[in-house]
Amino acid sequence: MSFDISPLLEKAVAGGRLTPDEGLRILESHDLIAIGQAANAVARRLHPEPYRTYNIDRNINYTNACTAVCDFCAFYRTPKHAEVYVLPRDVLLQKIAETVEQGGEQILMQGGLHPTLPLEWYEELLRDIKSHYPNVNIHGFSPPEIHHFTKISKRPLKEVLERLKAAGLGSLPGGGGEILVDRVRAAITRGKVMTDDWLNVHRVWHQLGGRSSGTMMFGHVETLASGSSISTGFGSCRTKREDSRRSLVGRSSPRTPRCHTFPPRERLST
Ligand code: SF4
Repeated sequence: MSFDISPLLEKAVAGGRLTPDEGLRILESHDLIAIGQAANAVARRLHPEPYRTYNIDRNINYTNACTAVCDFCAFYRTPKHAEVYVLPRDVLLQKIAETVEQGGEQILMQGGLHPTLPLEWYEELLRDIKSHYPNVNIHGFSPPEIHHFTKISKRPLKEVLERLKAAGLGSLPGGGGEILVDRVRAAITRGKVMTDDWLNVHRVWHQLGGRSSGTMMFGHVETLASGSSISTGFGSCRTKREDSRRSLVGRSSPRTPRCHTFPPRERLST
């Protein structure tokens, strides 16, 4: 027997907050048209202006060296691999120059978890970019990288973020979010930040006044319940711990406007 999700969608459209159970009901309905219409209604309520905006940016991967192992990642190389690289500074700056020439105003700069580069290297990188391109927003360093920096530098998270912000970091990407359920993360990644630490990077960044985005990668070993956790719980970037009954990420505090985008990405089989 199918479940009528209309009341739940009406609640969401009116601004009500869905519970993880309600999110799961909606996902289980597979009613993509109704969900899409409701999402559009919410978007128009939040942004009634008759236009939408976009920005031009470029992904720049400053290194492919990584100490973690993620089953879905074809990008990384182990630190001693023959194909490992750290982008020379002139090459990195040239990529930004090309972006600016095309009207770009932001770079998404992420890398693997490099085993030895110190925190000072990242600070100097940010300062160098900002000295050349003060108007380019650096949307950089995913939570796994930030967490890794705290380990490399042996400095507290807040200090690491403050130093990067002072050096020119503009906003945080949501890379490495995948599914915010430890069971799922442990199954597809090794040596990478788990749920609480991922969320904490965003939480502290928001406390510093920063903005961020959150990326969900689905289509692997997650269940609809764990997918529901990130779409209903993570929407605020203020979620917290696993729910033992359904492996859902519960919510710990009111929403803030600091999570500005939420790009879900389906993992494509190769
Ligand atoms: S942490 Fe990032 S770069 Fe490293 S293996 Fe995982 S997805 Fe790839």
